[in-house]
Amino acid sequence: MVNKQAWQTIHNELTATGVTLVAVSKTKPANDIQELYDLGQRHFGENYVQELVEKQALLPKDIIWHYIGHLQTNKVKYIAPFVTMIHAVDSFKLLAEINKYAHKSQRSIDILLQLHVAEEETKFGMDEKEVLTLLEYYTAQIETLQNIRICGLMGMASNSDDQVKIKGEFVRIHNFFKYLSETTFFNKPYFSTCSIGMSSDYKTAIEAGGNMVRIGSLLFGSR
Ligand SMILES: *Cc1c(COP(=O)(O)O)cnc(C)c1O
Repeated sequence: MVNKQAWQTIHNELTATGVTLVAVSKTKPANDIQELYDLGQRHFGENYVQELVEKQALLPKDIIWHYIGHLQTNKVKYIAPFVTMIHAVDSFKLLAEINKYAHKSQRSIDILLQLHVAEEETKFGMDEKEVLTLLEYYTAQIETLQNIRICGLMGMASNSDDQVKIKGEFVRIHNFFKYLSETTFFNKPYFSTCSIGMSSDYKTAIEAGGNMVRIGSLLFGSR
């Protein structure tokens, strides 16, 4: 069930601090999205391709769609015609594929690179060194990658209740984000998004400097 009161509170809180709220609507029906849309929410995040494609077809065309999950290269083509931002890019191959299909749709797609800092083992995300290597490839081939913009970093903290630990992980992401945005190696004005924080830790993420949060269950109820 949609918690309109929670949305209003979080919306006001984030608007005051200049943080973008991505409402994570995965597994929730299109009607729930429409309810928040009617209140003024525009950024929505999904992490299943098929589900996103189906909902996008049903809902208002000015919704700003974020793909926040792990994206397989063979699925890029389904979302490239409309998606605004893809959050969890962690390989040059995926980056090149997104560019290819963005080009086919005569669009530009915004990209966040996923930095893995959490303690849980996962095959997704990159460490700092891998991000730098990807950015070197990107810079070397930038002429052929004109349909994507690398806009910042995305990350998740460990699955933990320890907000001190979580804050340390978010600070690590934010420090690297700042380093990249200030270094002449990747000096692009649109490199300006640090997407960290979910329902349980978004306040900590904002304290750490995040300027985009991805909130699902607080707005739409548990999944
Ligand atoms: C599901 C999801 C979220 C939202 O999680 P909540 O705990 O429901 O707020 C945020 N980011 C990613 C990458 C997710 O997959």
